[in-house]
Amino acid sequence: MQTNFTAEQLQDPHTAEANKILRNCVHCGFCTATCPTYVLLGDELDSPRGRIYLIKNMLEKDEPATAETVKHIDRCLSCLACMTTCPSGVNYMHLIDQARVHVEKTYRRPMFEKLLRAVLGFAMPRPRVFRMALGLSKLARPFSKVISGMGLNRIAALLTLVPTKPVPSEKLGSPGTYPAEGTKRGRVALLMGCVQSVIEPSINAATIRLLTRLGYEVVVSAGETCCGSLTHHMGKEADAIWRARRNVHHWANARVEAVIITASGCGTTIKDYGFMLRLDPVYAARAAVISAKAKDIVEFLSGIELPAASQTLRVTYHSACSMQHGQNMGTKAQMLLRKAGFTVQDIPEGHLCCGSAGTYNIMQPEIATQLRDRKIMNIKSTNPQVIATGNIGCITQLATGMQTPILHTVELLDWAYGGPKPEKIKHLNGGSKHG
Ligand code: SF4
Ligand code: SF4
Repeated sequence: MQTNFTAEQLQDPHTAEANKILRNCVHCGFCTATCPTYVLLGDELDSPRGRIYLIKNMLEKDEPATAETVKHIDRCLSCLACMTTCPSGVNYMHLIDQARVHVEKTYRRPMFEKLLRAVLGFAMPRPRVFRMALGLSKLARPFSKVISGMGLNRIAALLTLVPTKPVPSEKLGSPGTYPAEGTKRGRVALLMGCVQSVIEPSINAATIRLLTRLGYEVVVSAGETCCGSLTHHMGKEADAIWRARRNVHHWANARVEAVIITASGCGTTIKDYGFMLRLDPVYAARAAVISAKAKDIVEFLSGIELPAASQTLRVTYHSACSMQHGQNMGTKAQMLLRKAGFTVQDIPEGHLCCGSAGTYNIMQPEIATQLRDRKIMNIKSTNPQVIATGNIGCITQLATGMQTPILHTVELLDWAYGGPKPEKIKHLNGGSKHG
């Protein structure tokens, strides 16, 4: 693609990076076929190629973003299906990230939207605040239909995501060092995360149990913070960069061989810390090291020897976009589950997003619900006993539309290798024999 940035504009390293990305695009349009918003809406401007043109114009003009451009950028899920499809290696992720920063800096959103984004950006990355907000939201949840009837669709969507059942507390997960059982094989850090640690603490607990049983000492750093992904995708760059620096500092000091992540959305961002902090003279080198050490739990487990196990449950695996497109995990999770004895099925149209995408299901509830319903229809066609996935956002999103238990892959693996049976599937027959 031809670009027309001035020499002065190209002095800015961010603009120079955008220019490089844009020039890789040959406008072939292959990416449109796998873009969820284009598949649903059929509008070129809601396709990756259309958005790339809009971003190019916005950055070249270096003027405040227009309402039309913001509409189509906001509709992008950052699912990155387009990057998997693109034959020219266009780094759409870095381009849309930069576009969001430009929008955040230059566009005046309507007051209510601005307020909602500010509240989400403040509460979600802070587990204590988020826990309190969740408590208040539970009180308002029964009125979500009335609230929707008042035209407050985004608030209604937010309330729909609030878990209906009490969250069982977990002993494992507070900051500290969890010793390896038996012969020590290594030492790893575990990101506790923000939202996940509040609404599904069983995921990190299962991870600690499994890793320590396998001989790994697990460090949960008292200084860690949210990975920054939530605010990064809102264009709130200062907050995301602050969080990235803080995590890099604490994990670098923890002297670990790997940083384990159990929410693939967070993993995609942490693996990008090296790029996010590349211009930071203090943190650039350490950030690159941490990004190289960042491993999704299934990626880490795929690299080590696991004992034999046998299972009898039928599991349908939903590969989160951040898992398949953001981190190119391929079939690692399915292979681990099969090795543990589960019967594993994939989902038709597995490349399409479920509509979760960070705060997308709150900010764009109509599109998110259409994608969720399409995903659920495809999942149901596999007749699963259990659904496994690797991202808390997907678990929450799918749970709003179906009753089948949805677990994190590591919860099933922990059970298969000697851990307790997950609470959500206690009612299902199917045993675990581990050797
Ligand atoms: S597939 Fe890649 S090169 Fe082709 S239009 Fe999409 S982003 Fe551009
Ligand atoms: S990230 Fe997803 S929604 Fe956004 S343009 Fe690419 S494929 Fe479409």
